[in-house]
Amino acid sequence: MLFILKEATSQMQLEHVRETIKLMGLEHHFVQDGKRMKLWVQNSNSEQNLQIEDLDQVDYSEEINVAYPLASRQVKNENSIVKIGDIEIGGDKACVIAGPCAVESREQLNEVAKELSQFGVPIFRGGAYKPRSSPYAFQGLKEEGLEYLAEVKAKYGLKIVTEVINAESLKHVEKVADILQIGSRNMQNFDLLKEVGKSKRPILLKRGMSATIQDFLMSAEYLLAQGNNQVILCERGIRTFETATRNTLDLNAVPLLKQLTHLPVIVDPSHGTGIRELVAPMAFAGLASGAHGITVEVHCKPEEALSDGMQSLTPKQFEKMYSKFNKLEAALK
Ligand code: PEP
Ligand code: MN
Repeated sequence: MLFILKEATSQMQLEHVRETIKLMGLEHHFVQDGKRMKLWVQNSNSEQNLQIEDLDQVDYSEEINVAYPLASRQVKNENSIVKIGDIEIGGDKACVIAGPCAVESREQLNEVAKELSQFGVPIFRGGAYKPRSSPYAFQGLKEEGLEYLAEVKAKYGLKIVTEVINAESLKHVEKVADILQIGSRNMQNFDLLKEVGKSKRPILLKRGMSATIQDFLMSAEYLLAQGNNQVILCERGIRTFETATRNTLDLNAVPLLKQLTHLPVIVDPSHGTGIRELVAPMAFAGLASGAHGITVEVHCKPEEALSDGMQSLTPKQFEKMYSKFNKLEAALK
């Protein structure tokens, strides 16, 4: 049940409501939605609902019937903006994240980070822990990779997004990353979601390759339920009958997610296509569909990349795409 508090509720009155709900032993969350504070209460019975409604600070109540209340527009209608320093994801300006699929060596990382920082890319990506479909594929440099990410972060002033795969990696990743990535393969790793949801860092949640929109939003709900409300959703392509591309980038998901949730939505045209030549067109299409940004894989020598070389742009190709992307963004406004 959702209780909408009166606009003029003071901090002290809010504490009173909090104490009352706590005494009732109910799982609950306070959510700021514009000027209003809202209180979402889980599994309350009708008697408890009446008791809460009777509180002076409560204006009215609404029944919530979605499986992902905290992620839904019903509970929070105002767009959520995730802030990373002075960068905003979910606001008016589209955010561009770029970098290699994986951290492969100090030299590889420095080379590509230098180029991307010169283009003005604000957020740099690169996996140190790589959950691969094959156990024989490159699994990432792990802590050594994080060290190199920390170096380029300091050297080029880039914000860092990198993947976490379990509680152990979270301890290390949190020290370096500005955004924690949860990959497609782990989108329904519920124990991991619970752990990462406790972190204070923003989270980039990638859509599972076979996840429905509802599954995706319920995974986001796991993070929100732990108290982390800085969640960014990423459409990265889904499995379909089509094998000509690696995945089918589901751009329907972008406007649909924006309708259903207040969370920012970005698009990954690299994994969404698996084919370098398709990355720029689908990045543009993602922006046109309303995405709050993109994440793109870039490698100085894609043919030598230890993972996802086929879908990686060279810095030169990225620069061309980025400049067009910025023009398209201006034109769309
Ligand atoms: C990645 O971002 O490199 C990655 C592994 O993506 P996904 O989890 O979407 O496959
Ligand atoms: Mn990749």
